[in-house]
Amino acid sequence: MSIAFFELEGWEKEHILKNFDLGTVHLFSDKLTPDNLPERRDFEVISVFVDSRITPEVIEAFPNLKLITTRSTGYDHLDVSAARSRGVEVAYVPGYGDNTVAEFTFGLLLSLTRKIHDSISRVKEQGKFTTSGLRGVDIKGKTIGVIGTGRIGREAISIAQGFGLSVIAYDAFPDLKLAGEKNFRYVTLDDLLASSDFITIHCPLLDSTRHLLNKENMTKIKSGAYLVNTARGPIIETAALLEALRSGRLAGAGLDVLEEEGDTKDESNLLTGDHPNPESLKVVLANDLLIKMPNVLVTPHNAFNTEEALVRILTTTIQNISHFLSGQPENLVPKS
Ligand code: NAD
Repeated sequence: MSIAFFELEGWEKEHILKNFDLGTVHLFSDKLTPDNLPERRDFEVISVFVDSRITPEVIEAFPNLKLITTRSTGYDHLDVSAARSRGVEVAYVPGYGDNTVAEFTFGLLLSLTRKIHDSISRVKEQGKFTTSGLRGVDIKGKTIGVIGTGRIGREAISIAQGFGLSVIAYDAFPDLKLAGEKNFRYVTLDDLLASSDFITIHCPLLDSTRHLLNKENMTKIKSGAYLVNTARGPIIETAALLEALRSGRLAGAGLDVLEEEGDTKDESNLLTGDHPNPESLKVVLANDLLIKMPNVLVTPHNAFNTEEALVRILTTTIQNISHFLSGQPENLVPKS
């Protein structure tokens, strides 16, 4: 069995070499994209992370491929139906860092509401101890709207309640038992947008959630609310987000993820890769504007990134491969 891991850091390579005895393993630092295929392509199993782009072309490039296992909870960077139509299974890592992502969400939220990033820059970069322009707002006693009450969403709810926030939630599949246990209530998306002082997104990117927040419904957001997105960028329509911030309807946004994140992270793709369509190009330009806004905090898709979470990711990925090889696959991406 020939197995390849892509997008690895040095310590991950060491961890895999120490803990992996399932066959010949090839370890690459590079991400796997249509423009960045390895010379050797006879692998039966490949493991990637979120900056790889597993298109039909990439899947075709590996003739022996049987399993793709992503070291992430989100799998929107993989063309799952193209894989399945070639008989390739796709596995992922559910639930490696529910608290990890939820904790980061509140880091972003408090950085926005208390201007923590600006406060630190005032001292470190300007060498000043003045507080003008650094006044924030309390969160205790206000309302947070949680979109998506799965593994990460429910951790976010617990943390929110620790801060003394009232919680309302929206989910396409409400879990009424959870709502009873955790003492929150489900509302419609429009009601959530209209009633929340803080909005946090924890649903997956699916066809049904692409632009879930959009030009129509973002006008319903309570004036002065803050929005945090640690889920996936395309869940928010970027032009609508920019407009909500410019108009002051949103007081601020904390974004760990962006629409067209790949091209925004590496704009040279725009020159060398396939020519993007005008809509994608507009999003990349809008991202540049967002990044420059003082009330927008953008982080580089970093919410997952703790020592503990990464070890859990690798452990589960190795188990995913082991179970697949023993004929009892686990953690396969659910059929939609
Ligand atoms: P989960 O599957 O446990 O929960 C997702 C929830 O979203 C479920 O309750 C589901 O019912 C709900 N949902 C599905 N469709 C919906 C819709 N149309 N409208 C509203 N809700 C809907 O997933 P999770 O483990 O909580 O992870 C959520 C997402 O967080 C992942 O899909 C991933 O994209 C993202 N994530 C980001 C990072 C990061 O580093 N920024 C790390 C891990 C996960």
